[in-house]
Amino acid sequence: MKIICIGRNYADHAKELNNAVPSEPVVFLKPDTALLKEGKPFYIPEFSQNVHHELELVVKISKVGKYIDEEFAHKYYSEIGLGIDFTARDLQQQCKEKGLPWEKAKAFDHSAPLGKFVAVNDFDDLTNLSLELKKNGEIVQAGNTKDMLFSIDQIISFVSQYFTLKVGDLIYTGTPAGVGPVSPNDHLQGYLNGNLLIDFKVK
Ligand code: MG
Repeated sequence: MKIICIGRNYADHAKELNNAVPSEPVVFLKPDTALLKEGKPFYIPEFSQNVHHELELVVKISKVGKYIDEEFAHKYYSEIGLGIDFTARDLQQQCKEKGLPWEKAKAFDHSAPLGKFVAVNDFDDLTNLSLELKKNGEIVQAGNTKDMLFSIDQIISFVSQYFTLKVGDLIYTGTPAGVGPVSPNDHLQGYLNGNLLIDFKVK
């Protein structure tokens, strides 16, 4: 399986990192070794002094597809959840300055914690879902999918022009504003429409 990630998909987050609002989805990949599941702790890697949390809505692909039209994209997923796109911001900054790829900063081992999934049918409107991340009990990120620059269906249509989507592939759909560093002993909890779906500690 592969993990497809979308960057700068919320204008307020693009702004907080001084990035332009993109005219098409910004796409990067993480390998399957980036996954961290079942609430296992995340160990801050020694190569970074500034690992940031990015809470993201995650879509699990349920059907193989390529060149998917936006109007049929909803047929390619039946579950959504929450994940964290951990980012070594210091390394990413160096990569950006040199015009180099981001993989070292984004795709390292366990950089993609993944929570529980829920059925899409449980929600009335996927374009109005609240996302909330608490760090040590305090809300640090709060967003709503209505503020996504590119919707789930637009993302699926776009990325499937380049990559065949396979069953079990994951799409991390971008983070709202409020990203920030994690430290040892932090406790992260992510909520989708008020439901706790991801919950783990940082070490
Ligand atoms: Mg992200």
